Amino acid sequence: MSRQATSAQLQATYATLQAAAAQVLAMIAALEEEDEETEVETRCPKCGSPDVVEAGRGVDGQQVFACACGHNFPAVCSPAGAELAMTVSP
Ligand SMILES: [Zn+2]
Repeated sequence: MSRQATSAQLQATYATLQAAAAQVLAMIAALEEEDEETEVETRCPKCGSPDVVEAGRGVDGQQVFACACGHNFPAVCSPAGAELAMTVSP
């Protein structure tokens, strides 16, 4: 009898783990979608506007963008890099 109870408990635990795994997979899929969006969309580090156009290459060969507000900034990989670029640019 104790063996049957253990089996039922294992089945319940397995079902719980399956539900948790499905939740984690859904979260990962959502995170990956967000990453793709941030990679595609470039925003001006000065005013935050997504209304930017490619403006050639900088002296270091990095892609430079020009914003509708008149601010030019280099392409960056992360929001933290965008803040850094805003700090170092004149
Ligand atoms: Zn701007």
